[in-house]
Formats: sequence, C-alpha cells, structure tokens
Amino acid sequence: MSLVEQMDAVTDASAGTVDRHATTQTFESTNPASGAVVGVFPVHDADAVNEAVERARAAATHWGELGFDGRKERLSAYRGYLARRMNELADLVHRENGKPHGDAILEITLAIDHLAWAGAHARKTLGPRRVRAGMLAANHAAYLEYQPLGVIGVIGPWNYPVFTPMGSIAYALAAGNAVVFKPSEYTPAVGAWLAAAWRAAVPDAADAFQVVTGYGETGAALCRAGVGKLAFTGSAPTGRKVMATCAETLTPVLMELGGKDAMIVDDDADVVAAADAAVWGSMSNAGQTCIGIERVYATSAVYDRFVAEVTAQVRSLRPGSDDEAHYGPMTMAAQGDIVRRHVSHVAASGRVVRGEADPALFPNENYLAPAVLLDVPESSPAVREETFGPTLTITKVRDAEDALERANATSYGLAGAVFSGSKARAMDLARRMRSGMTSVNSVLTFASIPALPFGGVGESGFGRIHGEDGLKEFTRAKAITRQRVALPVNLMSFSRPASATDAVARVMGLIHGRHR
Ligand code: NDP
Repeated sequence: MSLVEQMDAVTDASAGTVDRHATTQTFESTNPASGAVVGVFPVHDADAVNEAVERARAAATHWGELGFDGRKERLSAYRGYLARRMNELADLVHRENGKPHGDAILEITLAIDHLAWAGAHARKTLGPRRVRAGMLAANHAAYLEYQPLGVIGVIGPWNYPVFTPMGSIAYALAAGNAVVFKPSEYTPAVGAWLAAAWRAAVPDAADAFQVVTGYGETGAALCRAGVGKLAFTGSAPTGRKVMATCAETLTPVLMELGGKDAMIVDDDADVVAAADAAVWGSMSNAGQTCIGIERVYATSAVYDRFVAEVTAQVRSLRPGSDDEAHYGPMTMAAQGDIVRRHVSHVAASGRVVRGEADPALFPNENYLAPAVLLDVPESSPAVREETFGPTLTITKVRDAEDALERANATSYGLAGAVFSGSKARAMDLARRMRSGMTSVNSVLTFASIPALPFGGVGESGFGRIHGEDGLKEFTRAKAITRQRVALPVNLMSFSRPASATDAVARVMGLIHGRHR
C-alpha cells in the first residue's frame, strides 16, 4: 500500500502528522489545478505543538546517542525510501502544489542528494577535533566540537515543499537534532508524507522527525515551544512576525526569505544560452521560485538580440497540468493577484510581451500566461517587489557596471546570475553582486551543489542551510581545554609572581612589537 493510500485510509489523511492529539478543527488542502481536495488535516493548537516538541526532545537524546555513524545509516535508509517512492511523492507534489511531475522529480532528487551529503559530511564538519592551543596556553590541549541544539522547529513554504524544508531538516538531523516541521497550509499533505516516510524508514527514531499542521498560529506556537532554533523559510513580512514571536523566548532564528534576483548579461555573453537560462529561471514552477530570475539587465551591445531570443522562447510556453505543460497553476490564488497587479502596472507605462497560448483556454484563473516586461521604470513594483510569477523584466543598460549597480539596488539579496564570455570579468561581477549566491553562465546551479551554503543578505534573510555552514547552523560550538602539564608559574592564579607578567610583556613585545 502506498503512503498516499495509507494516508487516505485514515479519516483525517494525517498519517505523518502528530495524530495522537484530540483536535476538533481541521482544514483541507486542495489541488490548485482542479480545486479537488487533496487531504484533510488537523489544525494543531499550542498544546499539540508543545506535546510534539516534548516528544521530539526525548527522541533527540536517543538520536544524539546514535552518533554520526548511526545517524548516517538512518539518514541513508530515509533517502533510500524516498528514492524508491520518488514517483509517488512527485505525484503528490504535482497534485498539491501544481508543478509538472518532471519538476517535482527534479526537486525530490535534489533533496535526496542533500540528505546524502549531510549524512556523509556531519562527522568531518562537526566532530571533535584538536586545535592549536597557542603560546599562552602551550601546556593545554584545546578541543573544538559542534553540539546539537536539541529540537529544531522548521516552518516551510509551499513552492518547493520537499526541497526547501529538507534544506533545514536534513542538515538539522545530521547534526544530531530532532525536528518538528510545520509545512505551509497549502502543502500539508507533502509534509505529512515526508514524516510518514521517516516513521516507516527509521522506526527506531520515529519521533526524531514529526510534522504538525495548521495555519500561522500553529507556526507561532512552534516558535514559542522552546525549540533550540527556529528555521523559517517564507516571505520577508512573515519572517518579521516569526522573529518577533521567537524574541519572546529568545529563540534563535534562521531566516530564508524572498528575493528579487537579477541576471546580468554582458557584452560578450552567449546570448542564446543566457536567454534560455533567463526563461527557465523566471518561468519554471510558474515563477514561484525564491531564487528565480525576476530581473535581467542586458548591456546595450546585446539587448536587442537578447530580447528577441527571450520573447521567441516565451511565446511557445504553455501553462497546464498535463505532462507536456511547461509549468503549472499558481499554487496560491492570492499570489496570482500580485502578479496581475505588477503586470498591469507595467502595461500602463512599458511593454508586455505575452506567450501565444490563449488564456481563454486555460483551465482556470490560477494559470497565468508568461509575460516579458520591457521598458519598465526601476521604480515599478515589477522591479522593486517580489513578483513570484511567470514574469521577467528586461532592462537595457550601458554596460556591466551599470547592470551591477541596478542589480544591487534592492533591499533583497538572495541570489543572481552573470552571463559573460570572460571568466575573470564574470567572477569579479559575481563577487560584487550583493547576494548570498551567484551562478556564472547558468541559473540556480548553487542549489544543486550540496557543499555550497544557501542563504541571503538584507531582506532575503540570514543564516545558511546546505554545506558545512548549513550543518554548523544547527549546532553550538563547544570549546574544551585540558591541562596537559602544570607549569611552575600559573599566570591565571593570584599566586603568580609580579615578574611573570613582566616576562610575558617582554616576550609578546618581541614577537608582536615588530609588526607595523
Ligand atoms: P509565507 O511567509 O506566507 O509562509 C511561510 C510559512 O510561515 C508557512 O508555513 C506559513 O503558514 C507560516 N506562517 C504564516 N504566518 C505565521 C506566523 N505568524 N508565525 C509562524 N509561521 C507563520 O510564505 P509562502 O509560504 O507564501 O512562501 C513563499 C515565500 O517564501 C516567498 O517570499 C519566497 O521567496 C520565500 N522562499 C524563500 C526561500 C529561501 O530559501 N530563501 C525558499 C522558498 C521560498 P501558512 O501557510 O499556514 O500560513
């Protein structure tokens, strides 16, 4: 029996959620393509969330005692389980989020790769090591290790309901923490499936990863539940609320927020490749990608060719829910209103080039036509605010320096891309782009490299998931010293002779004083 069938078999379709609580309220998640109900889930209140966190706290002790190897073995069992049931999970992602099955597969494979990396690299990154004690404490041994925080609360969005939360969940678990995950109210079935899969694949540490479902209040209860850290992925406005709630209990936070990512197309760029990447980076997943390309700055030398190439590619794009569709419906109807507002604002002052698929034939209003936005003033909402839809602004700029200045003129700073024929020039632009991540001659690639950290600056948040930094994010650094031999003179004692500090001052003066 598939997990989805098992979930359907229980009345509240909540097989993977914290289901031991009596809760009177439920909510439905629906298929954005058809409006059909995907599942009915409990609205977990503060008591239920606290209970889940307490169970996770108990599980964290056992999970921690398993050590790096024990946890790696279990994380491998989990990724094996996900890999074997990839199609089943992709089908659920397709039904609940709306993205094409192939895109869901891609998302799941990325998540599996991160699980593998996190499990394999936790010991090397976090395990105990000796560090040099230095001259002043030469008679001591010095040790550094990274210890888990206990229980990590994870609050996730709906746009990549597997990949995005797994960026926190996999790394937090590998670091020795238990996790309580609150998925978006738009994708609770995917969250419940992930937790049910964990229970099935890792039965001896089932409570180390649990899911609670509900609306914002359930997330707020998780913030107040005494977790060691709250890893939030979502919009900047909600991020502010989450930080305020976490401040009540001084709970540390990781903030993965929105973006307004830019692509720079330089004079000597491969224009066809840049256009292909810009179209995919902006329109795939209906543009609902935090690291999606929303703005392109193309130099005057390539602008006309680039616009011609992009508009030609965009004309053939078609949204739909069938296997041939390029992207699906907007997962959240209200997001469609934001996209329409941005596009109509541009229509009043600039130019809008749409795809050729007839919107009258779209199944419902959640499907949006792709739109290339030209001659858009930098003050326009389509340039300043996160659009999160199948749109792309293209602006002509003097040169790459002009492009960089405009790319950086945003309160966000998540990611971006540079297309250039010169490696040195591209690397220089990439370094100076104000963002946490930049791809050269491709888009979004950093997300598929587990060793690289993922996160933003400014309104795009702080803290890092993925890579060694992502493992350390869910730990506290612990310092230990051990005296190896006692010295005749102990500097950290009231018994030290006055001459001792004079001698130290002379030695340090000789060593450091010559530096100017
Ligand atoms: P939201 O900010 O609306 O919601 C994110 C999560 O927070 C949801 O689970 C939501 O629950 C929950 N939530 C809402 N209110 C509260 C509250 N007061 N306290 C605690 N939790 C709360 O984001 P979306 O789900 O709409 O996701 C889209 C956003 O996420 C975009 O801005 C996108 O750029 C960003 N994002 C960032 C990524 C990154 O890594 N930087 C990756 C992916 C997306 P509910 O749904 O039940 O309201």
